Amino acid sequence: MQAISTRALSLGNALHDALEQSEFYLHYQPQVSLSTGKIIGAEALIRWHSKTLGNVSPAEFIPLAEESGQILAIGEWVLRETARQIKRWLDDGIEPVRIAVNLSYAQFQANDLPLIVNAILNEYDVPAEYLELELTEHIATKNPKHTITILESFQRYGIKTAIDDFGTGYSSLSYLQRFPVYKLKIDQSFVRNMTTNRNDYVIVGIIILLAQQLEMTTIAEGVENQEQLDLLKQLGCDDIQGYHISRPIPADEFTRHFLKKI
Ligand code: C2E
Ligand code: CA
Ligand code: CA
Repeated sequence: MQAISTRALSLGNALHDALEQSEFYLHYQPQVSLSTGKIIGAEALIRWHSKTLGNVSPAEFIPLAEESGQILAIGEWVLRETARQIKRWLDDGIEPVRIAVNLSYAQFQANDLPLIVNAILNEYDVPAEYLELELTEHIATKNPKHTITILESFQRYGIKTAIDDFGTGYSSLSYLQRFPVYKLKIDQSFVRNMTTNRNDYVIVGIIILLAQQLEMTTIAEGVENQEQLDLLKQLGCDDIQGYHISRPIPADEFTRHFLKKI
């Protein structure tokens, strides 16, 4: 107990200064179409190199930042950094792809989130088509009415939204069809075991059918091998993301390997 709380305390202190000290940066993980094999987008994933603690995983510090409220400032930094990077590609004559940014619960609670996101896009002069927002199924289903209101605002601004970690929450089908999202992201826990566990294989298939009926796109995350890719293709999944294509990588590496000149 004490070891855990000591770690939490030192993380909390270090996190306090992380933004000011410019210790955050983003990695980008490509998303590829199964029908064309071409890159269709990427997910921006935050990384933290603390001067005192070294590299800390987002799985460890994001929940802490949620608790302390620092996630609002960190989340805004991620949106800005993404917009800045897209603008840079445009200025450099490189064709950007749509970048998906993860939203936290606290960010999504704020009624002015769509306004803030739209202001950031305007500030950097970035067209809305290059941004996508990921909202986990857990967050989306906590208060479905609020979710619909916020998602509809994003839609009015032309900003696409996707449901992350799909299959792990409790979406009611009647709400799901009222969420104006264009994409379901199949949780990696199902993808990981779909080649060996029949239940997971069936769940992946059902999510794909569901999305097709609701006229949504599907992307499978955590795809690590060719066997998973082949099964997903058979089942009619649209896109994939995972180590099989690439790990999340720094912007310059991502630009070199996956983007091209206009
Ligand atoms: P997530 O949104 O579900 O992101 C996918 C996670 O799976 C990432 O972990 C990614 O590196 C990892 N991953 C991708 N492909 C594979 C694969 O083939 N195999 C395996 N085993 N893992 C794969 P990461 O970067 O450590 O992020 C963990 C979580 O932290 C994210 O889960 C997300 O919930 C949160 N997170 C990351 N960046 C942000 C951010 O900017 N804002 C917020 N609010 N949360 C973030
Ligand atoms: Ca995500
Ligand atoms: Ca996910």
